[in-house]
Amino acid sequence: MKSKRRALLGGNTRLRLVLTLVAVVLPALALIYVSFQHVKSIQRDKKVEALIHRDFQYILYSGIKKINEKAYTMTEDARDLFPTEADSDEERRKKVTAILEKRPWFAHVFLFEKNKGTIVQSQPGQMTDAEIERSVKMYSGWLNMEAAYFIEQMSKKPKPIVWFSGESTHDGKPRYVTTAIFTVPKLTSKDRLVLGGVSFDPDYLKNTFFPEFLAEFTSQRFDQNAAGHASPAFHELTPQEITEQGERRLAIKVYPSEPQKSEPDRPLAVSAGWGNGKPEVSQMLDDPFRGLGMGIKFQGTTAEAIGRRFVRESMIILGVLSALMIGGLVLTYRSVNKQVALARLKSDFVSNVSHELRTPLALIRLYAETLELGRINTQEKKLEYYSIIRKESERLTALINNILDFSRIEAGRKEYDFRETDIAELVRNTLDSYRYQIEQQGFALEEQIERGIPPVRVDREAIARALVNLVNNALKYSDRDKFLGVKLYRSNSVLKLEVVDRGIGIDRNEQARIFEKFYRTCDPLVHNTKGSGLGLSLVQHITHAHGGAVEVESAPGRGSKFTLTLPLAGTQPGASVA
Ligand code: ADP
Repeated sequence: MKSKRRALLGGNTRLRLVLTLVAVVLPALALIYVSFQHVKSIQRDKKVEALIHRDFQYILYSGIKKINEKAYTMTEDARDLFPTEADSDEERRKKVTAILEKRPWFAHVFLFEKNKGTIVQSQPGQMTDAEIERSVKMYSGWLNMEAAYFIEQMSKKPKPIVWFSGESTHDGKPRYVTTAIFTVPKLTSKDRLVLGGVSFDPDYLKNTFFPEFLAEFTSQRFDQNAAGHASPAFHELTPQEITEQGERRLAIKVYPSEPQKSEPDRPLAVSAGWGNGKPEVSQMLDDPFRGLGMGIKFQGTTAEAIGRRFVRESMIILGVLSALMIGGLVLTYRSVNKQVALARLKSDFVSNVSHELRTPLALIRLYAETLELGRINTQEKKLEYYSIIRKESERLTALINNILDFSRIEAGRKEYDFRETDIAELVRNTLDSYRYQIEQQGFALEEQIERGIPPVRVDREAIARALVNLVNNALKYSDRDKFLGVKLYRSNSVLKLEVVDRGIGIDRNEQARIFEKFYRTCDPLVHNTKGSGLGLSLVQHITHAHGGAVEVESAPGRGSKFTLTLPLAGTQPGASVA
């Protein structure tokens, strides 16, 4: 019946424990698994790189838009200053020259009027007279044929400007030129085929226009650029998360999209920090900078490296979190298991204690009733019955004292009353009151109490209880070789109280655990002997309260030796509350 109940208790609790753990472990494992898969998919699909590239595309797009707008604004500003119909030839020439004067970024400006002539003005020192002469001829010849067509084309465009861009060779060196040709607001009409034009100075483009733009652009951080980009993907994985300070700086390069074969890797302008890597993303430019390409990358790193590092760091974080989670689960499992074991010990304790209480009570009642009936005639028998009643009531008292002490200790209310005590006498008296019982059970008692032990401050009752517990254990856990040795002696500055038996002994693995509350060893004799598992935990508590310690030396089948070490006078506690 009892074992069935215990099995039920253990089984139920274990099942509940397993179910609880499964309820925690399964989602935890699933979470870890899903997270690992997620990081792996980021790695496999190169998601980090894709996000960076998408943003780079956007950055390039907005950068290109900006430079295009700038070139248009510069051109339109010049276009507004072109002569009007009212201007004389001289004034026309002056106005064209004035445009150049304050705008060093134009290499030359021209005004073509069909049937009237062409004016070409260049920056001082840019063109020789002969070159100007050649340009006048070139523009006149070309626009005489094409002006009508251009004007018609321009009327269809949002801005009446057409661009002619590309690399040309000058003094044996390639240079990038872009020229705008536009209608002149107050001159051009359906009947008057008039066109103006400005040509950007190649040196200005190469040395000022693009470098200024690159410097301004790369001084921003990647995330600031990206902040304006309302990309939902960037909410999942912000650049701050995937890159670190210093790595977010951008590098940009502008280069001819069809470089000459002799110099395939010749940039027109390159920002600081480009290094020698390849662009992550490139884009071909359209008007006004047709024929150029723009590439973008990180300074000092690549999107691939950032992606790799993101994956590696995520894996490490996930690994650490998983280890912590598993560690936590193991700890929980162990602590819950401990609680289950304690619950089982407590239930054993209750059944053992109630049995232990019942046995002496039944005996006391039985012998008292027998005596009461007056059927016992011999004095000898009567004495024997009285002695049994006394012994059983003593056992009962000892047990109740243990339980009371234990509950006081548990509640933190146990108090000790330390007084000057002749400890030799205390040990002797305690043994005397047990001598009869010891000898009756067939034990040989060897008592060695050193003479001249000075008085020590102890709680008499507590020390006596500790000794009684040790003696009782020696009696309970001995089978064939019934020997009990009690020894009290001084050793250096401490007092030692030894209780020795030649009983069943204790396995090495269990020696530390026997001092735990409710703990009882697995020996069959222990199982068949009643006990609460409280005795030794009380002994340990009592010795600790006295500033001492308790140790056990034991070998299975050979017996045990319990040694209490108590400090001698001078090192003892005055009074203490446990
Ligand atoms: P109890 O004796 O009531 O079971 P204790 O706390 O006094 O509780 O002892 C705990 C356990 O230690 C015992 O159940 C027993 O297994 C073991 N033990 C204690 N003293 C001895 C001894 N002298 N010899 C062998 N085993 C012992």
